[in-house]
Amino acid sequence: MNIHEYQGKEILKKYGVRVQEGITADTVEEAVAAAEKLTADTGTSWYVIKAQIHAGGRGKGGGVKLAKNLDQVKEVAGNILGMQLITKQTGPEGRKVHKILVAQDVYYPGETPTKEFYISVLLDRTSGKNVIIYTTEGGMDIEEVAESHPEKILKEFIDPAVGLQGFQARKIAFGLGLTGEANKEMVKFVTALYKAYDETDSSMFEINPVLKTSDNKILAVDAKVTLDENALYRHKDFVALRDLNEEDPLEVEASASNLNYVKLDGNVGCMVNGAGLAMATMDIIKLSGGEPANFLDVGGGANAQTVEAGFRIILKDPNVKAILINIFGGIVRCDRVANGVVEAYKKIGDIRVPIIVRLQGTNAEEGARIIDESGLKVKSATLLKDAAARVKEVLAEA
Ligand code: GDP
Ligand code: MN
Repeated sequence: MNIHEYQGKEILKKYGVRVQEGITADTVEEAVAAAEKLTADTGTSWYVIKAQIHAGGRGKGGGVKLAKNLDQVKEVAGNILGMQLITKQTGPEGRKVHKILVAQDVYYPGETPTKEFYISVLLDRTSGKNVIIYTTEGGMDIEEVAESHPEKILKEFIDPAVGLQGFQARKIAFGLGLTGEANKEMVKFVTALYKAYDETDSSMFEINPVLKTSDNKILAVDAKVTLDENALYRHKDFVALRDLNEEDPLEVEASASNLNYVKLDGNVGCMVNGAGLAMATMDIIKLSGGEPANFLDVGGGANAQTVEAGFRIILKDPNVKAILINIFGGIVRCDRVANGVVEAYKKIGDIRVPIIVRLQGTNAEEGARIIDESGLKVKSATLLKDAAARVKEVLAEA
């Protein structure tokens, strides 16, 4: 589960990580009030206005802008709020900005030059360890650095049972070329960052840039945080951090009905019980010349309600030209699924695409009979290869 920059920074602060301070706003008036409060709290006279969307690359897309007084705050906030922000990670349609973060400007001049670093903590599945990835080439696109200067990307592996050791935090601070006060600050920063990642059961904390200020403080200017959904039961307060505006509406609807649905780009919708069978079904669709429009696993206990919910979600996708339902009757009986399909079909009405139902397992023949005798535009198949041939037929007719 992804969260916003401002939410990530709140978590970081709780763990003692120094961050660029900011206050969120949903309107221009709130933005001006936020800027005034920020000056009272931090003494800052310049501000950075930052679009809060779940995608990186906001700076380059025009979603991060400096404002040097309250008039500029008004102007910039007005421009960013409501804009359709397009970045490398949003796709060509972009994302609408509903919220901004009014942040203190932390790039003020001083005794030493400012410097941007990149630091992330994530799980390395190959080694079964956590890894801190860091480089002096911060602020820019990390993929570009990996491409042009792979030797500049450094890694420190951490045994999750032992945790981050003091020598490792010091190695990172020295690896980033820091000495004196900035080095000490970086050791504290990395230690607190790892603690935040570890204790929140997160799958990623990516801070780009980590800034060394002109007075040698180390702070997080940005925060890209992915929480592990499977650990949400241990962090009930994180559930409120979910922003449904940032998720695919069909996926939100599916998760409300407890369906595992992932939208894809193809033309054949599919509804299957079991993730493995769903993968095999997607292969079959491809082999018969179609492209899967989605992944949908209705789970082991498919009944009339789940079939109906699945149907409705698939039918909302305008690209769908045919639907393949592939159910193995193990726990659930095929005749029950067939009745569920017929019931859902009649209830939804006006279904304009052909449906192929393949039922195998307990009471398969009875299930096929129910489908064939329903008088609806539904074709049954018992063998997977017949189902594939049917998909081919209906695509040719479409
Ligand atoms: P991203 O583009 O989505 O990764 O958003 P970031 O939060 O990383 O901001 C983009 C860029 O804005 C950063 O790399 C900085 O160069 C710049 N920026 C962020 N905060 C400040 C600030 O306080 N002052 C100035 N002058 N620039 C900033
Ligand atoms: Mn960034």
